[in-house]
Amino acid sequence: MRPVSGLNSHLPTIASAPYGGESGKPMLAEHTDVVELPVFPPLNEYHYNERHRIHPLQLADLKRRRFLKVFSLATLSILASATPAHSGTKPQVAGMRRANTTLADDSNLITLFLAGDVMTGRGIDQILPHPGNPRLYEPYVKSAERYVDIAEKVNGPIPKPVDFSYIWGDALQELERVQPDVRIINLETAVTASDEYWKGKGINYRMHPDNIACIQTAEIDCCVLANNHVLDWGYRGLEETLSTLDRVNIKSAGAGRNAAAAAAPATTDVKGKSRVLVFSLGSETSGIPRVWAASENKAGVNILKDLSDNTVRKIATRIQQVKRAHDIVVASIHWGRNWGYHIPREQTRFAHQLVDDAGVDVIHGHSSHHPKGIEVYKQRPIIYGCGDFISDYEGIGGYAEFKSELGLMYFVTMNAENGELVNFHMTPTHIKRFKVQRAVGADAQWLTDVINREGGSLGTGVQLGADDTLTLTWKG
Ligand SMILES: [Zn+2]
Repeated sequence: MRPVSGLNSHLPTIASAPYGGESGKPMLAEHTDVVELPVFPPLNEYHYNERHRIHPLQLADLKRRRFLKVFSLATLSILASATPAHSGTKPQVAGMRRANTTLADDSNLITLFLAGDVMTGRGIDQILPHPGNPRLYEPYVKSAERYVDIAEKVNGPIPKPVDFSYIWGDALQELERVQPDVRIINLETAVTASDEYWKGKGINYRMHPDNIACIQTAEIDCCVLANNHVLDWGYRGLEETLSTLDRVNIKSAGAGRNAAAAAAPATTDVKGKSRVLVFSLGSETSGIPRVWAASENKAGVNILKDLSDNTVRKIATRIQQVKRAHDIVVASIHWGRNWGYHIPREQTRFAHQLVDDAGVDVIHGHSSHHPKGIEVYKQRPIIYGCGDFISDYEGIGGYAEFKSELGLMYFVTMNAENGELVNFHMTPTHIKRFKVQRAVGADAQWLTDVINREGGSLGTGVQLGADDTLTLTWKG
């Protein structure tokens, strides 16, 4: 442990977890003499704990205003041409394309909202109207309330209990503006009151089921669950997660009462157009214990055995059984390390094969705590890592250079007629006091620079608009 100057005077003792912590995030020490911020080991030491790595990171009116969305197509089209790109800080690159503004038929357009990790458990759960048992079993922290304390010490008081919409902050207004047809998040927590924590895992996230309205307020259509936290509170916890989402009519994919259910897509009809099928896949590289794999007679997670040709073939078979003309197929994949921009070659190969051989139209990758590079392959978007969107990590140091407090709302518009990408916009966000806020100015510029830097070798770039949103450009 190495002291870090700056914020020390107001923080309690924080010790770096052994081997950098199973979560990739630090854990807090029990005693409070010396005030220090945690420091992680270098990334290459991370291998040490790879096998067990687990990253931390009502509303009456839920009748979706879907009818409005029918009329929103024209709005979308206007937005597409009105949003960004003209006053950007990066010039348009010759040979690159962006928002297609010459569509013959807007009725084929489907816009998806995609977000990375939405972790509404632990500290977040404690500020919501129905906090669950705060008891934790982390090596250094025994109460979820501690995470609230840390955040408040850094960024000021949180008016708890907050209302269910609080955590989404400015994101709600942005969703209202863009009016995506389908909203998809990686729900990075169990939704349960179970006390049967998964022993030896180190980090166990749970949100009380009575707080599910916080997901409803953002009108989320689909929660993908093939991640390394859905079974944190055992099989009872998984069952309660599934039944809670069912109860409030939020679709899920990636975990289920048996292997077939876990592998089944979440299907959303987009009125008057087509369907969006979301397949949720989890890789052990994100820290999902292999024992969590669902089987014929056992509940669990839809785990990718590997990223091989054979795995692609199996996924292709499954997709071909259900995909119809004009469907948009999303492969939502929890994969890879928490920190670092490197994209393993096998991920790229796998993503390309899903497009080429399995009929996937959108790759929605997550697990990284920060946004990674974006590729457009054969007019299909590949987001390798969305980054965190909502989490309780405020005030917990380590890996500051990745600025995991900054996130992106991804808005991907697809043409259902041919499955091709039409527009790709991103809205930068910043989480503060457990609330999503628009990131503007220097923060938006920083994200722009990162996405440009990481997209360079992938053939993509972004332009920062006067309204602080990003527009993707791509070759081809
Ligand atoms: Zn994860």
